[in-house]
Amino acid sequence: MRRAFCLSDQPERSTLFAITMRMTRLLTKTTKNVPAEADSANAKYLLQGGFVRQEAAGIYSWLPLGLRVLRHVENIIREEMDALGGQEILMPGLQPKEPWQITGRWETVDVLFKVPSQTGKEYALGPTHEEIVTPLVGSFIRSYNDLPVAVYQIQSKYRDELRAKSGVLRGREFGMKDLYSFHKTQEDLEQFYQKALAAYLTVFKRCGLDAKVTEASGGSFTKKFSHEFQVVTPAGEDLIFACPSCTFAQNSEIATVTEGEACPSCGSNVELVKGIEAGNIFDLGSKFSEVFNVEFTDEDGERKTVLMGCYGIGVTRLVGTIVEALHDESGIMWPKSVAPYQVHLVSLMGKDDATRERVMDASESLYSDLTSEGITVLWDDRPDVSPGAKFADADLLGMPLRLVISEKSLKEDSVEWKLRSSKEAKLVPVADALEDVKSFIAEN
Ligand code: ATP
Ligand code: MG
Repeated sequence: MRRAFCLSDQPERSTLFAITMRMTRLLTKTTKNVPAEADSANAKYLLQGGFVRQEAAGIYSWLPLGLRVLRHVENIIREEMDALGGQEILMPGLQPKEPWQITGRWETVDVLFKVPSQTGKEYALGPTHEEIVTPLVGSFIRSYNDLPVAVYQIQSKYRDELRAKSGVLRGREFGMKDLYSFHKTQEDLEQFYQKALAAYLTVFKRCGLDAKVTEASGGSFTKKFSHEFQVVTPAGEDLIFACPSCTFAQNSEIATVTEGEACPSCGSNVELVKGIEAGNIFDLGSKFSEVFNVEFTDEDGERKTVLMGCYGIGVTRLVGTIVEALHDESGIMWPKSVAPYQVHLVSLMGKDDATRERVMDASESLYSDLTSEGITVLWDDRPDVSPGAKFADADLLGMPLRLVISEKSLKEDSVEWKLRSSKEAKLVPVADALEDVKSFIAEN
């Protein structure tokens, strides 16, 4: 059997971050059928591309391509939270009832999933983690020396949403990064809050998104306002008043301005736009530390209540938000920073065996050059799929760079080069392809 079609050779030792994947071995397949439950671009493309599978309304499995995106997003967040001084922990999804009774939220949080046990006890499936993290961190705080401190986790949250919708934007089980900070003074809390706000903007920027810092209500957390990170797209559920000329933005729930009015910061006319809330940060003050009695001994020997902030990013919602912001009529346009693979290598087999063999040899050699440089490649090595179908899949799946090797390109000793974000293709000499890809990946 010719090497090109020998599907029995050992798969590369694959880990989650295996850098290559041959489509002949990929678990998932794309589908042309638009699923009935696809009520939004992210639902449509993530389902059609096989990034996720819907198990029930608002409940998804993350499949190989989708999980790679999710992990890339999580790692960007992890890097920025670590840089902020956050210490990563992992708290349980299944939570005891008692702390929820202590805060009163067992009764007041309408989206709380309550789980009965055969022992007669009841548990909560965590929609958020203040009830766990406050006593947890509190158990380690003695004096001012122990402050400030910040912990975070990346974990599944559960909310009994009345209406799960818009693909992964509003789920009943979803991924969240939640960070909690603990301080001795309001001034220290505010300083950290500003640093966290800046780190959030870096996270969204690194994910290819432009997020607007939006004043919003404090919700069930605090009487004060909070800041949301809104990504403006028509798929958004939130209505926000935003200034087109400066950074001013207010959620319409609490707005002090209205459409067409002068922006309080710069005077331009404020616009009403739709946004997806990708993140939300809160100054909690002493709300939770007071109920759980989290105190510290100050420099002067006095016992004082710790002050807290909490900071959330919906990590699965963020993947959906990227799709909403970055797609066209053919599919997704992943930014390099989060794409499942950096390069989509397409081999067009040609009609006769000799051509196929040349195409496969050239492809295999480029594939191994790229991967030996640490470049991640999804290789469409499928022998029996038409060029049109391969191109449609490349557009749907949305890798940033498509390289095509075909009889036509090899006649010119070349590889066809096309960015997902552009309509133009060009030929690049086979001999230059590796260096060109390396520079493309290094570009910002
Ligand atoms: P929303 O107003 O959209 O219901 P929220 O304000 O209740 O969200 P937070 O408690 O602030 O949400 O949670 C932090 C982040 O988690 C949100 O900014 C959002 O990105 C994400 N998130 C919240 N609920 C969901 C959900 N049901 N599905 C997916 N992500 C969610
Ligand atoms: Mg919120």
